[in-house]
Amino acid sequence: MRLLLVEDDAMIGAAARDGLRQDGFAVDWVRDGGQAEAALATGVHEMVLLDLGLPRRDGLSILRSMRARSDETPVIILTARDAVADRVAGLDAGADDYVVKPFDLEEVEARVRALVRRRAGRARARVKVGSLTLDPATHEVTWRGRRVELPGREYALLAALAERPGAILSRAQLEERLYGWNEEIGSNAIEVYVHGLRRKLEPGFIRNVRGLGYTLAADGA
Ligand code: CA
Repeated sequence: MRLLLVEDDAMIGAAARDGLRQDGFAVDWVRDGGQAEAALATGVHEMVLLDLGLPRRDGLSILRSMRARSDETPVIILTARDAVADRVAGLDAGADDYVVKPFDLEEVEARVRALVRRRAGRARARVKVGSLTLDPATHEVTWRGRRVELPGREYALLAALAERPGAILSRAQLEERLYGWNEEIGSNAIEVYVHGLRRKLEPGFIRNVRGLGYTLAADGA
């Protein structure tokens, strides 16, 4: 899943970006309000981690204009411990949640996952599609009851498809989910991951819809 991290503090930003990437998120990091606006206009991010005190344009004003133009992308605000008024203002302006700085990455990730579940209308933490079960918290995958080990991006690709069973995701959409801006994408990377997944699960489970993209097959289990 692809996150936009808006944070002007170099140390906090770098630590958050690196930690989140290590845990399998695609992360784009911008450091001021102007860059944040430009990044949001691309529409590729599934969630925004938003600092409030930012150069050029503050986080609260960015959030208000997102909601004013009906941009419903989930937003978690990052606020200082003593700034209760900021947190209240953030939530009132349309933030979905907040994390208090200095934050623990594990907590940020847990809140991201909880928000994904709430948005998907699921109370349960696990995602189930036919014989496939995914646990977004642990990245544990089982297929027909058997545990399957998947490298980070194979997992991310499978999770992207499993989040919306029945939807067809194009190669470009999958690339957007799996990679940040500065990460190099091999020209056939998605095909390679799909091939790996088919080998480990079942060849027919990931269907290629000609000219459109990929989707999960109902495997009848
Ligand atoms: Ca700041």
